[in-house]
Amino acid sequence: MKTMITGIRPTGTITLANYIGGIKKFIEQQKEYKSLIFIADIHGLTTYIEPKEIRNNILDITALYLACGIDLEHTIIFQQGDVLEHCNLGFLISFQCSVGELSRMTQYKSKKLELAKTDKDMGLFIYPTLMAADILLYDASIVPVGEDQRTHIEKTRDLGERFNKVYGKTFELPEYQIPKIGAKIMNLQNPKVKMSKSAPKNDKGTIFILDDVEITKKKIMSAVTDNEGKIYFDPERKPGISNLLSIMAVIDNLSIEEVSDKYKDYTYKDFKIEVADKVSKFILNIQDKFYKYRNDEDYLKKVLKEGANKARKLASKKMDEVRKTIGLKL
Ligand code: ATP
Ligand code: MG
Repeated sequence: MKTMITGIRPTGTITLANYIGGIKKFIEQQKEYKSLIFIADIHGLTTYIEPKEIRNNILDITALYLACGIDLEHTIIFQQGDVLEHCNLGFLISFQCSVGELSRMTQYKSKKLELAKTDKDMGLFIYPTLMAADILLYDASIVPVGEDQRTHIEKTRDLGERFNKVYGKTFELPEYQIPKIGAKIMNLQNPKVKMSKSAPKNDKGTIFILDDVEITKKKIMSAVTDNEGKIYFDPERKPGISNLLSIMAVIDNLSIEEVSDKYKDYTYKDFKIEVADKVSKFILNIQDKFYKYRNDEDYLKKVLKEGANKARKLASKKMDEVRKTIGLKL
């Protein structure tokens, strides 16, 4: 059976974009693969967050994944930092990599300016090598992610391939799986930038799954659109409307063509009312289940601990193999 893995940083609470980009497909396919989800707590440290808040985010995310439908019979969920092999392999992978190529990674370039102010950008710089390790460590074949992670998965393949060339076939090379619809959900207030969970909590353009649905409805009703007054899909010219069409398509399980056709004669206001209604029903259903899990912290901690134990077994076996391959194991 092939392996599927995906990760999420505990840098905030899950957004609708995270669900659409990474979670939905994972849940649908979890029984077809050996499935792993890790909470990327170490990657999360590239953004400073109060320790207390990180702990809370980890528990929230675990409860949210359970509420969204991960099945612990089929899926291992764990914290990256609980399985030290991630960092160990990340270091070894860095030997396959050049400073130049890491400095050209889009994420590094885009966040560097912000981090340069603090003079602490090394973690962000080596992010791709740790991410490659996260995936190669489990010989994962499939990685469901949003569009923003495409180059990171490509880099993971490159680095794995280089390692295989030097030492002989050691790692399976992963493929990304980017959803056809909603690969990049945009901020509702600024549809030129992607929706991100590390946005401020009061950001009007970000739909947090745990927000009160009345707030979510308001955010959708005030989403930025355009002056044309016609509903059709054209992300270049109509980023706001196209974003809402993508969201609607995913929530309603329709194609973009079907959704565009269904709403073509609506006014923007009436269309937004429909989006707000569908999205809030969807979210309320998840929230209902979320609170049942979230109220039992002991259970959540137990789930993560058991997950880490299972992941560690796989990871330590692979690390042994890697250490042997490169000559470190006597
Ligand atoms: P942060 O701002 O802290 O990086 P994020 O919202 O980008 O938060 P991540 O934890 O980095 O979330 O990524 C989790 C998953 O969500 C990844 O698979 C990522 O590709 C996906 N994802 C993130 N943003 C979007 C988006 N706007 N549209 C679709 N998928 C997304
Ligand atoms: Mg991100």
